[in-house]
Parts: sequence; C-alpha cells; structure tokens
Amino acid sequence: MNEYDVIIIGGGSTGTAVARDCAMRGLKTLMLERDDIASATVGTCAGMISSGLKYMEEPDIVDMCSQEVVYFKRIAQNIIMKNPILTPMLEMSDLSSGGNFAEEYSKRAASRDVPPVLFLTPEDSLKIEPKINPELIASMYFEEYFIDPFRLCILQALDARRRGADIRTYCEVTEMKKTSGNMIEVAFFNRLTAQKELVTAKVVVNAGGPWADKIAGLLNARLEIRLNKGAHVILDRRVVNVGIIAKAVDGRMIYLFPHENTALLGTTALDSWEDPDTLVASYDEIEYLLKSIEWVVPSIRQARIIRTMEGARPLVAQWKIPEGKVTRGYQVVDHAPDGIDGLLSFTGGKLVMCRHMAESVTDMVCKKLGKDIKCTTHIEPLPGNEASVDVLALAAQYNISRHAVERLRARRGTELGKVLELTREHPEWLSTICACEPVIEAEIRYAIREEFPQTLNDLRRRVRLGTGPCQGTLCTFKAAGILADELGLSGEQFQLEILDYLSERWKGKRPPMRGEQLSQEEVVQGIYACVANLDRSDAHYEPKPWEEAS
Ligand SMILES: Cc1cc2nc3c(=O)[nH]c(=O)nc-3n(C[C@H](O)[C@H](O)[C@H](O)COP(=O)(O)OP(=O)(O)OC[C@H]3O[C@@H](n4cnc5c(N)ncnc54)[C@H](O)[C@@H]3O)c2cc1C
Repeated sequence: MNEYDVIIIGGGSTGTAVARDCAMRGLKTLMLERDDIASATVGTCAGMISSGLKYMEEPDIVDMCSQEVVYFKRIAQNIIMKNPILTPMLEMSDLSSGGNFAEEYSKRAASRDVPPVLFLTPEDSLKIEPKINPELIASMYFEEYFIDPFRLCILQALDARRRGADIRTYCEVTEMKKTSGNMIEVAFFNRLTAQKELVTAKVVVNAGGPWADKIAGLLNARLEIRLNKGAHVILDRRVVNVGIIAKAVDGRMIYLFPHENTALLGTTALDSWEDPDTLVASYDEIEYLLKSIEWVVPSIRQARIIRTMEGARPLVAQWKIPEGKVTRGYQVVDHAPDGIDGLLSFTGGKLVMCRHMAESVTDMVCKKLGKDIKCTTHIEPLPGNEASVDVLALAAQYNISRHAVERLRARRGTELGKVLELTREHPEWLSTICACEPVIEAEIRYAIREEFPQTLNDLRRRVRLGTGPCQGTLCTFKAAGILADELGLSGEQFQLEILDYLSERWKGKRPPMRGEQLSQEEVVQGIYACVANLDRSDAHYEPKPWEEAS
C-alpha cells in the first residue's frame, strides 16, 4: 500500500492549491479528485479575484484578498485580466452607499495597480457604455481583476505534478479509517479502471468544498457548512463593453461581466439543502437576475441565454444571520480534539483565497509532520507565467490571427510556444476547431498530451472548447475526432463521447431554454442527428466501467 505524507481530497481551486504547496515543500503528496480538475464549484464561479470590497465589514479579509491579488499578478500574470467596471446609479441613495465603497477601494488601489474610484457624469458613463440606462444620475468607475478558474486549477495541479505530487482524477474517496499506527487509510474507487485502491497518509486534507461534510463523515468527524447556491446566466454575446455592477430587486449587488465572447450575469445567493450534485438554476433565479439588471441595461433581453450554471458556496456555518452577513473568510478545522488526529477540513473561503488557504493548511500539515519548511507559492510562478508574451510577433511568425494567439496566451502564457511548435511539423493543426473562442487544433492536441483530460468535457475545461455562443454546435464533432485520434478511441467510443458531452451541456442549456434559443437548439439537435447520426435507433448509452461495476 502506498504511503504518503499527505493526501488531499478534492481537485477544485482549494485542493489543487494545497497539492501545489505541499509538493513545493517537498512533502510526499497525493491529490484525489472524483471527477476532473475544476469540475465542481470552482467551475461555476465568476473568476473575480476582487479585493473583497463586497465584504467591507471584514477589513482583514479585504486586506488579505488585496494581497492575494498582488501575488496572483506575480505568479499567474498570463491568466489574469483587468476589467473596467461601471456601477450606474439611478437614485440618490445609491450615491451615498457608493461613497463608502470608493473610500475603502481607493485606499488599496495603488498596491493593486488600479486607479482610485472615479465618479462619472451620465454623459461620460454613456460614452464608456452606451447600453446603460440613460436616466442614470452618475456612475462609479473602478477596475477589478479576474482569473480563469479552470486554468488556475489545472496549472496548480500541473505544477504540483511536476514537483513530484501524484495527481489522480476520477478517483472517488469512499472510505477512511484510522490505523493502529496513527495513520489514515484512504480507500478510493478509480472510476477509470473500476478498481478500488488503498493508500495511507499521516495527514489528510479535506478540500471537498460543498462535499466536505460528507468527506469528514467518512471518519465519523463532524463538520458543518452553510451551503449557499448561486446561479449565473450566460448570454450569447458581449452585451456590454465593460463590467456592470448594480443593485438587484432585493438590494443585493449583482453583476454583468463581458466574458470572452459571451457575457456573464450573476449571481443569486440562496441557502440550500439540495444535493450539491444535482443543482440547476431555477426559473425564479433566472428572472431575478434578468429583472434586476434590466433597470441598468434595458436591452438585456435582446440577447439569447445560451446556458446557466449553478454552484454551491461551502460557507462557514454561521446561522441566524442573512447569508450576506456570513463571513467570506475560511476556517481550517483540525479534528484532533474530536479524537481524529490527522484530518484537517476546510469550510468557507473563495477562489481568490485559495493560495492563502493552502498556505495555512500546509503550515499545519508541516507542523503535524514535524517539519519546518517555508511557503513559496506566492513567489514562484505557475507554469507558463514566468514572463509575458509577444503576441504580435508570434502571430506574424506563425501566420495566425492575433486574436487566436491572444486567446492562446490568455490560457497558456509562455507555454503557447510549445503549442505553436507542433504546427511546424503539422501546419494543418493551425486550423480553427472552435470558432467561437477561437481554439486551434494544435492546442487541443497539446492539451490532450500534456494535461490529462479523459473526456471531451475535460477538454472543454482545458481549452474552453464549446463554451462560446454556439455552445459546441460546430466544434464538438471535430474535437471528438481529435480526441479519438490521440487516445485511440473506437468509432463507437467516439460517438458516445459526443453524446456524453452534449448531455452534459444540456444540463445547463435546459433551464433557460426559451424564445430564439429554442430555434438554436433545434439546429444543434438537427446537426447532431444528421451529421453524427446520434438519433439512429441502435445508438445507446454505453455504461462507463464504474457504472457497470455498481
Ligand atoms: C455562483 C458562485 C460564484 C462565485 N464567484 C466567485 C468569484 O467571483 N470569486 C471568488 O473568489 N469566489 C467565487 N465563488 C466561490 C468559489 O467558487 C468557491 O469558494 C471555490 O471555488 C470553492 O473551491 P473548492 O475547491 O473549495 O470547491 P470545489 O470546486 O467544489 O472542489 C471540491 C472538489 O471535491 C471533489 N470531491 C467531492 N467529494 C469527493 C470524494 N469523495 N473524493 C474525491 N473528490 C471529491 C469534487 O468533485 C470537487 O471537484 C463563487 C461561488 C459560486 C457558487
């Protein structure tokens, strides 16, 4: 049985950050994720690495988040974007609440390399964003940073792996027990081989997000979290030039951000007791968001909703206060006082804090292991983020559009050179597979070879395949062919991969389907019925090995 210093359960932003930190400190590390990297909550988030100003009542957290932004700019420069944001004010009362925010934001602006908050006249506001309601009385202008959550997680996992950690996806932890030698034995089900495997470690870090309570329960440890679900609506175009933050119908703040070639409208925040595995956006959530943003962007309903996504925030269990008052900080629960020495669980936290969370827990792991090794995750860059990239020069060198190279840079940073290198031998791999984003064939092949995707869905998380306005209508078939070629899939497996991918997309497309989006979906279904033959009578879902076994 393999023995580790530390086993991390969960491969979201928190788990991958912990794996990286542990590996960088030389610990023998295993990370187990039951699905793919970033396949759960972190994949449903907006990717805003704000300075935490939404939570001004928690100044320590605002300071910590501001500092984390500075670190991300150092270690993840290529996957970060700075977005301008307008907060249009339609009533006098909006002006007074804006003042507090502006003061707090501006105090920390210089250290984060952003300008202080500016108050703009209606005329200037409309010049920046002509789509906003012309009846505004003023607006606040400021800038916030965003990070690609999928790339952050995969880069953290890749870095951990390059530094010696074992990173295992499709491995679900099913049982844990303490051994007589004060180790923790972890049993997991390998979904790819349908085999059960056993490993042990001195310390287990539970980074299971909304599932953390269930994971703790495997050792009969008690962990309470306050699940809070949130929906995003994704629109088929960049509805606005800049981000918009506005008051919702109930006075909460919501946002509309241009995101790649789409726009992201979010989010709701509702206490939830649903199974986090089966969350979908409700009609009410979608209408709440549309109705709220309609006041400031009256033309919002002209855009098509291409999909929704829903995730559950695993908040710290503070009760009898509104969700907005619950701390956005995190806790590391050491279960030793309950007699379970060696198990450490997270509650709370955010994407922006994942590096900080990892540093805290790895300090605790090191202490338990009797080691004194300093954290360097805030100093050493993630793969591909060691330097900036000359997009124009590369576009000219490889005779490829600047837009495509820029998108490659935003996902891979300096590693884009390795992608483009592949096209020297295979110039045909410069062809665009996903026109929405765009994604070239060489990047898909590189991701399959280097970033361990198992399915088309995993590939989507690596390269943003099928996430644009057409939602995979035109690229799924081609990408499945490349995946089949690289992984040696049979014709049947190729077809089932497409079915699997389309049904996964369907989960997010179904809730908001209405109006013109229905016609769009008819086109998609028509294409896949006719071109991919997916409606043929003998096409059936083939169970995966783990489904056969269960
Ligand atoms: C709608 C919404 C918007 C948000 N927006 C932002 C934002 O803009 N900025 C920000 O900073 N934060 C944001 N957040 C918060 C942020 O997304 C989360 O705090 C963070 O992503 C949680 O990451 P995680 O790794 O802890 O959890 P997850 O991403 O859920 O990862 C936990 C992992 O554990 C795995 N797992 C579960 N059980 C097992 C098992 N038995 N064996 C193996 N693996 C297991 C799961 O498959 C999952 O991948 C948002 C959250 C939501 C819901």
